[in-house]
Amino acid sequence: MGTPSIAHRVLLDECRNHRHTPFTSAYHRCLGSQRGLPYSAVRGKKSVNRQALDELKQQIPLMGYLQAHDWSPARPLSRGRWMGLCPLHEDHKPSFVVDTNKDLFYCYGCGRGGDVIRFAELYHQVQFWEALALLLQWRGVEHSLLHEAARFYHIQLHRHGEAFAYLYQRGVRSSATIELMRIGYAPGGCLRGWLMQLGHSLPALRQAGLVTGVGYDAYVRRIVFPLEGNLYGRSLSAAAPSHRFLPGAKGGLYAWAQVRQYPEVILVEGLFDCAVLWEAGFYNVTCSLGTHLNARQFRQLCDAPRTVYLAFDSDGNGSGQQAAHGLERSLRERGITARLVSLPEGHDPNSFFVQGGDARQFQSLLELAQ
Ligand SMILES: [Zn+2]
Repeated sequence: MGTPSIAHRVLLDECRNHRHTPFTSAYHRCLGSQRGLPYSAVRGKKSVNRQALDELKQQIPLMGYLQAHDWSPARPLSRGRWMGLCPLHEDHKPSFVVDTNKDLFYCYGCGRGGDVIRFAELYHQVQFWEALALLLQWRGVEHSLLHEAARFYHIQLHRHGEAFAYLYQRGVRSSATIELMRIGYAPGGCLRGWLMQLGHSLPALRQAGLVTGVGYDAYVRRIVFPLEGNLYGRSLSAAAPSHRFLPGAKGGLYAWAQVRQYPEVILVEGLFDCAVLWEAGFYNVTCSLGTHLNARQFRQLCDAPRTVYLAFDSDGNGSGQQAAHGLERSLRERGITARLVSLPEGHDPNSFFVQGGDARQFQSLLELAQ
């Protein structure tokens, strides 16, 4: 029991040997390490499937785990990397770097780095197998919490006319879509009581980000969409930020397991775009929750030969179209055919349908896409 795996040691040694390498425009060697070694101890008694470990790590994004353990970044670096005080040693100036694309950390102060499993080992001062057990347990609690929260919000939706009115106004009008996407509503002020009644502890609710530090429901007057390992909340009130996620990664592409089987897929920015396209009968649609795809979402799009229709917002400042152009180039480099869908000026797929566009018209936009 408790012997770190060989791959683990290799990664660690590599980190130790390169602790003085300064960050350049490229990733630190530890952060960029993509060794194909299996995690299993070659001669060890226990071995664990590399794929299962990768899955666990995907389900527990490092940033979410860090934040749940009271870490917060002090400042952003480039390309999804963040810097903050090191939670592993007494740090006075930020020396701990987290790469959210690669889900790796490295500390310039204590010279330690690795993935979420390595972090759990160091933070809880346990051996590899115990760290794994802690993470599995943590994932279990997280999942059941998010599942219960989503179920609760879904029940609330049917009790709040204002939520239905909002969905209607955004073109989400069929109960099939609401059920398929498990859309819910967070009125605010009652989730905490419900979950605690089910036996969840307040610290667990805080850790998951469902409840604020002072004990209030984090989502108030928000339409809620369950994601893989997160909940997206869209505010009904103009006074609050429109979009919110729980701490942690937004996860992979929306409903990818179903969508990936289509040879042609439509990629949109938001869940309301996705919803109206579903209602219009386009089931090959997925969503990246923003114009910037994380590394996992990009890998998913490239996981088989296919054509991707990029239907991003056609907003006045051109940011959606600019992002679509960049993505089109990156996809083309990976051998994926990408086509840019031109929506009428000022429209996103949601507003296109809400303001009278229909499936036939959208289909002709797809056909015109280049
Ligand atoms: Zn450190």
